[in-house]
Amino acid sequence: MRNPVPELLDEVLRECADDDGGALHDSIPELAEADPDRFAIALCTADGTVYASGDAEHRFTIQSISKPLAYALALADRGIETVLEHVGVEPSGDAFNEISLERSGRPRNPMINVGAVTTHALIGDPEWSLAERDERVRSGLSAFAGRELEIDDAVFESERSVASHTLALAYLAHSQGKLDGEPHDAVDGYIRQCSMLVDVRDLAVMAMTLAGGGRNPVTGEQVVPVWACTQALSVMATCGMYDAAGDWMSRVGIPAKSGVSGGVLGALPGQIGAGAFSPRLDDVGTSVRGEQAFARMSSEFGLHLMHAP
Ligand code: GLU
Repeated sequence: MRNPVPELLDEVLRECADDDGGALHDSIPELAEADPDRFAIALCTADGTVYASGDAEHRFTIQSISKPLAYALALADRGIETVLEHVGVEPSGDAFNEISLERSGRPRNPMINVGAVTTHALIGDPEWSLAERDERVRSGLSAFAGRELEIDDAVFESERSVASHTLALAYLAHSQGKLDGEPHDAVDGYIRQCSMLVDVRDLAVMAMTLAGGGRNPVTGEQVVPVWACTQALSVMATCGMYDAAGDWMSRVGIPAKSGVSGGVLGALPGQIGAGAFSPRLDDVGTSVRGEQAFARMSSEFGLHLMHAP
């Protein structure tokens, strides 16, 4: 029997490719240079089969899609109690770079930038040098993808040259005793984390690793413990799409994380990992075609989490 998945993916891509709504992210200068018409989608099944359509070879920086993965690494390295002392789990309803803390001084969750910088600083061992933490982040994200990832130095330098807002967030968390280490170091490391180069297949495999309880379906490596994935997916489902988390969950129904370079990762526990990429973004920083493609995949393949079978 013919496998219908490749054709269905091509169809989803074709149907969403005409939409040229949205705009390139422009607060990181290098991202404003992206080719706006690129478009790719990918799926990874629980047995590690990967299907892709469109510009699947094109690499882009992971940006905020690194946040749930970095959160899972921090949980694995430091334990849930320590992580919860530093960062909460409540949806903020705020934009990704909002200046906001809980009354306790904790950032509200690890998906908005203030919480993501705080989470980054928790990865590894508190005694480690910056280089050791950077390498733990790079090799941890690589283990999620199942291949060795590299940093895009131009995007890293570009974001670093405009990082005063992120630095302000780091100082805010530091002022409340929630940021381990020095704000400049945490921001540098966080921006390096966001500058890791991936393609849509990587996103699909990373997503399936999260959806499969931390075991990479391609390499078989147990990247993080099952409980850390349960925690990361729960927070991603409620906070991953920032101030559009409710809209995304009701329309698409797949726990997901967006990034400002145009990537989207979606993970359906036990079932499927998905990735999409197209650089034009809507007002909340989600890829316009990426969101459409996810909505189509969700209905074509019956993936809505809340849909009774
Ligand atoms: N590196 C970006 C920032 O911190 C990530 C934001 C995003 O992808 O939503 O501004």
